Amino acid sequence: MSNETITRQPFQAEVRQLLDIVINSLYTDREIFIRELVSNAADSLEKLRHLRLTETAVFQPDQEPQIEIATDEEAKTITIIDYGIGMTRDELVQNLGTIAHSGTKAFLQNLEAGASAAGNVIGRFGVGFYSVFMVAEKVKVFTHSWREAAEHLCWSSDGCGGYEIEEVPEQSRGCRIVIQLKEEHAEFAMPGRIKTILERYSNFVPFPILLAGERVNHVEALWLKNKSEVTGEQYNEFYKFVAHAWDEPRYRLHFSADAPLVINSLLFVPKENPERYGMGQMEPGVALYCRRVLIDPKPRGLLPEWLRFVKGVIDSDDLPLNISRESMQDSALVQKLGDVLTKRMIKMLEAESKNETEKYDDFFKAFSRFIKEGVAVDDKHRDALAKLLRFESSMTEPGVLTGFDEYLSRAKEGQKEIYYLVAASRSAIEAGPYLEAFRARGLEVIFLYEPIDEYVVSSLTEVAEKRLVSASSDDLNLGDAPPTEGEALSEADTTALCEWLKTTLGSSVESVRAGTRLVNSPAVALQPDGQMSPQMRAMMKAMNQDSGGLAKVILEINPRHALIRKLALRDKSASDELAPMIAEQIRDNALIAAGLLDTPTAMLARMEKVLTAAL
Ligand code: ADP
Repeated sequence: MSNETITRQPFQAEVRQLLDIVINSLYTDREIFIRELVSNAADSLEKLRHLRLTETAVFQPDQEPQIEIATDEEAKTITIIDYGIGMTRDELVQNLGTIAHSGTKAFLQNLEAGASAAGNVIGRFGVGFYSVFMVAEKVKVFTHSWREAAEHLCWSSDGCGGYEIEEVPEQSRGCRIVIQLKEEHAEFAMPGRIKTILERYSNFVPFPILLAGERVNHVEALWLKNKSEVTGEQYNEFYKFVAHAWDEPRYRLHFSADAPLVINSLLFVPKENPERYGMGQMEPGVALYCRRVLIDPKPRGLLPEWLRFVKGVIDSDDLPLNISRESMQDSALVQKLGDVLTKRMIKMLEAESKNETEKYDDFFKAFSRFIKEGVAVDDKHRDALAKLLRFESSMTEPGVLTGFDEYLSRAKEGQKEIYYLVAASRSAIEAGPYLEAFRARGLEVIFLYEPIDEYVVSSLTEVAEKRLVSASSDDLNLGDAPPTEGEALSEADTTALCEWLKTTLGSSVESVRAGTRLVNSPAVALQPDGQMSPQMRAMMKAMNQDSGGLAKVILEINPRHALIRKLALRDKSASDELAPMIAEQIRDNALIAAGLLDTPTAMLARMEKVLTAAL
C-alpha cells in the first residue's frame, strides 16, 4: 500500500488528556466499554433509520439493521459490527480524534486532581468511544459511510498520542470495530463474559444484538408495560440504558394515560447532577417515541428546559409518525404532552417531599438549581414549583431545610407577608442588621444564599396570597414594637435628631427616620422600594456592570439606643466638630452592615479623629 493513502494524525490535546485518564485510571468497571460501543452502534442504526425517511440513495441499502458481536479467545479480540451510517474520512477525524462536546472540554480543563478523581469521571459520566482504551492494546475501526461515493477506510490507534487512517477496500456500510485486548484484560474475549455483560447492559437496545450469531437481547419497551410487571432492577437497568448513566435513579415516574392523550412514559431523576461538576448545560434527556418508534432522542421543546435533568421516555400514540424534528417544537400536541408530564413530575416530587422528607431534601440540595430556574422562568408552572422550594430560615438549624408550607404553618396570625433575606451565607445574615427586628417579634425570615434566588423571589412575588418581602425593604409594617430595654427619646427629640441628621448627611441618604424595628443596633440602612437589593448590587459590581451609582438608602434610627439618645441630647452647636463625624460614622456603619459601603477609605481618617476626641 502506498504511503499517500495513510494519514497519521495526533489526537487533539483534550483527547490525549482524556485517554491518559482512561488508560491510567483505577476504575474497576472496565466492562462499560462494551456498553459504550454497543450504544454507539445502536445510535448509528437509529440515525440510518431516520436518514432513510428522506434519503433515497444509500450505500448497500439491504443490510440488516442489527449489531453483530464476535470474540476470539485465542487472538484476544472482540469485534463489534453495525450496519449503520458509518463514517467518512472527515467524520473519523472529527468524531474519533477530537472532543466536540464543550462541556467535556471544560470539565477536563477544570479537572486538576489526579487518578482517584479520574476514576470518578469515568464512573460518573462515561467517556464514550475512548473507554475502549481501558482494555485495548489496539483498536481498528473499519468503516464505510452511508454516502455512496465515500471511501472504504480503516482508523486505527493504540490510544497513545495519535491514530492512522488508511484505505482498506471492501468495507460494508457501518462500522466494524476490532479490539485487540491487552494481555491482562483477555477475559473480555471469553464468550460467556461478554454475554453476561450484554445481558446486563443491552437489554433495551432497540435493535437485535447477535453474539456469535445468537440473539442476546429482547427488545423491551418497558414503558408500555404494567407497573406490576416490572421489577425495580429492570427499572434501574432501563434508566442506565436511556440515560447513559452509571448511577441509580433517585426517583421514577411510570405514568400512563388514555385520555385526553394516549401517553406511556417512564421518567427518572438521576442521583448525580453533572452540571454541579462543571459539565456545562445538559441536553434534554427525555426521548420522544410514537408507538415504540423513536422520533427524537433529545427533543427540545417537549419538556421545559428546567426539566433537562430528567431522563427517560415519553411515548404517545397520538403523534403522527412522520412528525419531523423541526416541526415538533411547534406542535400543539407535543406541547400538551410536555405539559401533562411536567405537571405529573411536579406532583410526584411534591408527594415524595411529604412521604420521605430527608430523601427529598437531599434531592433538593443536588438539584435546587433546576427548580429555581423553573420558578424564575416558567410562568405556567411557577406556583406549583414554589411548593418544591426548600431553604434554611431563621427558625431552622444550619443545614436543615424548610419549605413555604411549613413557613406558613408557623406564621403569626394575621401575618400577611413572607420575609426573606438574600446574602452570601447564613452567618452574613445573622451578623447583619436586618434580622433582629424579626427575631424580636418571633417572625420567621427565609434565608437565601444564591444569586439565582434574587430572580426566584422577584418572579414569585406571592405565595399562598402572601407577598414575598425582603427583610431589608423599607416598606414594612412589623406591628407593635417589641418590649425593649432603655427609654426611648421623646417624639420631639427624635424628630429633631432626624432632621439634623438629614441636614448633616445631605444627599448621601435618601431620608432619615425613626423606626421600631431595631433592637440592638443604633441605625440600619434600608432599601427604598424598587431599588436593587444590596446583594444584587454586589453581584452587578462583581460582573462589572452598572449598579446605578451609589446606593442611596433610607437611614432608620433606633431612638432607644444609647448612642442615638446621647447624640440627640448633645448640644450640637455650629462649632461642634465631633457630632457631624459621629453622624457620618453611624451612616457608614449601617452601610457596611448592609454590604453597601463602596469606598471605606474616607471612613478611616474620620475614625481616627473620633478616637482622638474620645481620649
Ligand atoms: P458520543 O457517542 O457520546 O457522541 P463517542 O466518543 O462514543 O461519543 O463517539 C463519538 C462520535 O463518534 C459519535 O458521536 C459518533 O458520531 C461517532 N461514532 C462512534 N461510534 C460510531 C459508530 N459505530 N458508527 C457511526 N458513528 C460512530
